[in-house]
Amino acid sequence: GMKRYSPEGATPAMAQWFALKAENPEALLFFRMGDFYELFFDDATAAAAALDIALTARGTHAGEPISMCGVPVAAAPAYLARLIRRGFRVAVAEQTEAPRKGKGAAKGPLARAVVRVVTPGTLTEDELLEPGRSNLLLALAESAPPSGRGRKGKVAEKPQASAAIGAAWIDVSTGLFETASVTQAALPGLLGRLDPAEILAPPTLVLGDFDANRAPEVLIPGVDAARQRLASAFDVASVDAFGTFSDEEAVAAAVAVDYVQRSQAGKLPRLTHPSPQTDGGILGIDPATRASLDILRARDGGMEHTLFSAVNQTVTAAGARLMAEWLSAPLTDVARISARQDGWCWLRDSHACRTSLRDALKKAPDIARALGRLSLGRGQPRDLAAVRDGLHAARDASTALGDVGQLPPYLAKAAGSLGVAQGLEAELVRALADDLPARLDDGGVIAAGYDGELDGYRGLRDNSRRIVAGLQTDYATRYGVASLKIKHHAQLGYVIEVPVSASSRMKDREDLMFRQGTASNARFSTEELSGLDARIAEAAERAAMREKTIFNVLVESILAEQALPVLAKALAVLDVLQSCAMLAGGGSWCRPDVTDDTAFDLQACRHPVVESALPKGTRFTPNGCDLSPNRRVMLLTGPNMAGKSTFLRQTALAIILAQGGFPVAAEKAQIGIVDQLFSRVGASDDLARGRSTFMVEMTETAAILNQAGPRSLVVVDEIGRGTATLDGLAIAWSVLEALHSTVRCRAIFATHFHELADLVDTLPRLSPHTMAVREWRGQIVFLHEVLAGSAKKSWGVHVARLAGVPASVVDRAGRLLKELEREHATGPKPLPLFDTQKILPHEEENTLRQRLLEVDPDTLTPRAALDILYELHKEA
Ligand code: ADP
Repeated sequence: GMKRYSPEGATPAMAQWFALKAENPEALLFFRMGDFYELFFDDATAAAAALDIALTARGTHAGEPISMCGVPVAAAPAYLARLIRRGFRVAVAEQTEAPRKGKGAAKGPLARAVVRVVTPGTLTEDELLEPGRSNLLLALAESAPPSGRGRKGKVAEKPQASAAIGAAWIDVSTGLFETASVTQAALPGLLGRLDPAEILAPPTLVLGDFDANRAPEVLIPGVDAARQRLASAFDVASVDAFGTFSDEEAVAAAVAVDYVQRSQAGKLPRLTHPSPQTDGGILGIDPATRASLDILRARDGGMEHTLFSAVNQTVTAAGARLMAEWLSAPLTDVARISARQDGWCWLRDSHACRTSLRDALKKAPDIARALGRLSLGRGQPRDLAAVRDGLHAARDASTALGDVGQLPPYLAKAAGSLGVAQGLEAELVRALADDLPARLDDGGVIAAGYDGELDGYRGLRDNSRRIVAGLQTDYATRYGVASLKIKHHAQLGYVIEVPVSASSRMKDREDLMFRQGTASNARFSTEELSGLDARIAEAAERAAMREKTIFNVLVESILAEQALPVLAKALAVLDVLQSCAMLAGGGSWCRPDVTDDTAFDLQACRHPVVESALPKGTRFTPNGCDLSPNRRVMLLTGPNMAGKSTFLRQTALAIILAQGGFPVAAEKAQIGIVDQLFSRVGASDDLARGRSTFMVEMTETAAILNQAGPRSLVVVDEIGRGTATLDGLAIAWSVLEALHSTVRCRAIFATHFHELADLVDTLPRLSPHTMAVREWRGQIVFLHEVLAGSAKKSWGVHVARLAGVPASVVDRAGRLLKELEREHATGPKPLPLFDTQKILPHEEENTLRQRLLEVDPDTLTPRAALDILYELHKEA
C-alpha cells in the first residue's frame, strides 16, 4: 500500500518538496535540481516504473531511505509525453532564483515554485501533441437548481433527460475556445464529436467511454461569479459581448478557463473569445454510429483504415486538424456545404493554381501552435521562425491564388486573410539569425546587424576572446614553455596550463598566480587574463540579456498582430480545400448535389476504405443506392460475406462526406440533407462488457426508434439476429414497419430474413434488394452487386456443404428447402416459417434435430452459435 509521509523532521530541501507536493497532491512532482527534475517517495516509485528508469535513494526521512529517480531537463519532454500518455499529471517545480555564487551566499535551498501542471488537456509542446489532431479540454456543468440555493437540494432530484448541460472546450495549443448547451441525450454525441483529452465534469454526470479522461474534481463557481470571471478574463464588461451564453454554458466556460489558468501557474494563454455554438447546424451522429464508421479512428484503434486517411491529402498539420474537425461534425446547412464545394471545385479546375498553392502550403509551419506557446511565454526561437515562415508561405499562397475577384466567396475570404503583417515578416527576417539554436538560452538567436547594442556586446566578447587567443603565443615566448596553452575552465575561468615539468620554473614569477595543480599539469592565471575573463563574461551576459529583451519585443509584436490567428485558420482552410481538389481531380470522386429535401440517389458509389484495402488486382464493385421518397426504405438480403456491411457503411460515409463539404466516392450523388445519421453495422463488441448481443441490439434499436425522424437516415444490419428465429423475425418485421410507416425516414435494412421481402405488398415505400451471388462449379461467387428484388435462392445449404456439414444432412436440408419453397409458392400468407411444424419429418429421420443435439451450447462462442443458428435456419 501507499505510505503516508509526514513532513516532520525533513531537511530544508525536503520540506520545500513537501510543501509543493501538498499544493499538487494529484500530480507527480518534477522537482528541479540543477540539470535534473527529481522525483521522490511514491512519485519516484510510480515514475520509475512508468518510465523504466532506475530507482535510487537519496538521504533518509523518518529513518527510512527516500526513494528517488530523476530525468535530465533536456530530455524532459519525451518523459513527460510518456507519463501523460499513461494517465499521470505532472507538476513542474522550477528554481525561481538563480544559483548563488561565492561565499556570501545565504544558506538554505533555492526558492522553487510550481510553474505548470502538465495535464492531458492542457498541452502545448509539439513533443506532447499529435500534429494533425486538436487536443481539447472539455468542461461540463449541469444547470443550477431554480432556487439558486447551492447544490444541496440538487442531489435528491433525479437528473431529467431534458436538463441542460453546459459545455465549454478549449484547445490550449491553438487558443480555440467554444461553448454549447446540450441535453443529456445529446451529451454522448458531443463527447464523440469532440473526443476530448481531458474532461472536467461533476461526478453525477455519466461519461460512458470517456470516463477514463475525467480530471480530478474542481470547484464549481456560481453563475454570477462565472460570468464575472469570464468577462475579466477577456477584459470586457460582460460576456454577452461574444454572444448569448446560457447559465450552465457560462459556468462550464469559467471552470475551463480557471483550470487552464491554474495549470499554467496563473498565466492564461491567449484564447479566442468564447464562441457559443448553436448545435442546429451539425449532423447528429451518436457514439454507436461513430464507432461503426471508423471516421477518424478505426475500431482497431489505429489510424490507417479510416475515412480520414482515405480522403486526407492535406500537407500541413493545421490542415489535417481542420479536416478532422469537418469530418467529425458534418453540416446540415446547404449554403455552407455549397460554399466549401465551390471552393475546392474551383481549385480542382485550375490545376496550375492548385499545384502552386500546394507547394506554398508545404512550407507553412504550424503557426497556431507556435502562437499558443508564445502566448504562454514558452516560445522558443523556432516558434518565431514558424511565424516568419508562415507569413512567407501565406504570401506565396496568396500569389498562387491570384486575383481575389475571380475566386468563389469561400476561397476569396481565405485568400483575403493572407496578405497581412508584411511589416512583421520583414522584421522577423531581419531579426532572426540564419542558423537558429533550439533554445533561447543557447544564444545566437538574433542576427548580427539587427541591434547595435547587441552587436556591441558581442564585439566586446569576441574581441576579448581573440585577444586571449593571441596571448598564447606571447606567453609561450615570455615564459619559455613551448607547450603552454590558454584554456577556459568552468570554475577558474581562463588559465595558463603547462606541464608539471615546467611548473617549478613558473611558480617563482611575480606576474603569475598558481591556481591549481593536477598530476600532469599546473594552472596559472595572470591579471591580464582575469581582466579579460571578466570582460568576456560580462559582455556575454549583457549580450544574452539584450538578446532576451529583443526576443521578448518580437514576441510582443507577434502577439499584438491580431491578423495572425485569422491567417493561420485561412491557411488551414486552403489546405483542406486543396486536399479535396486533389481527391476530386483524380476523376473517381464527385461533387454531390446537396439539397434541402429528402432526395437520395447515389450512383456507382464506393467504400473508399475497403476499396483501398483490397488486394492488388481485385476491383471494387460500385453500387448505386436509391432511397428516393417513394422507395425510401431498402430491404437488403444476401448471405454473409456478400458485401452487405460494406454497402451499408459506404452509404453512411457518403452522407458524412457530402455534408462535410467533401467530394464523394461515387459517379454521381444527390443527397437531401440528413439531420441525424444512425448506423448499426457489424457485430457489437459490447459482449466483453457483459451485455448480451441481443440486449445491445435492442438498446440500440430503441435508441434509433426513439430519436430518428423523417429527416434522418438509418442503416441497420441484422436486427433480430440475437434471439430465437421466430422472435427475431417478429422483431425485425415490426422494426422495419416502424421505420417505414412511423419514423418515415430513409433507411437500409439488411437482414437474413428473406421472408420480409413479402412485406413489399403492405409497405409501399419498401424496395427489396439482394446481393448478387452466383454458383460456379459448385462454389459460391460473391459479385458484391446490389440487385433489385429478393433472394431467389437460399444459399445456406450451399454454404453448409462448403463448410463440410455431412452430405446426408445437406441433402435432407436441400429436400426440405424444396418442399418449403413449394409450400410458399402455393399458399400466400402466413410466411412459411410460421408453418414449418407440419412438414417436419418423423423423429427418427430428424437429422436437423440430430445436428442440434451435437451442439454443446455451454461451450459455444456467441459467434459460432449465430453461425449454426443461421445455417439451421436456412435449412429448417
Ligand atoms: P457481409 O456484410 O455481407 O458479410 P462484407 O461487407 O463484410 O460482407 O464484405 C466482405 C468482404 O467482401 C469485404 O471485406 C471486401 O473484401 C469484399 N467486398 C465487399 N463489398 C465489395 C465490393 N463492392 N467490391 C469488392 N469487394 C467487396
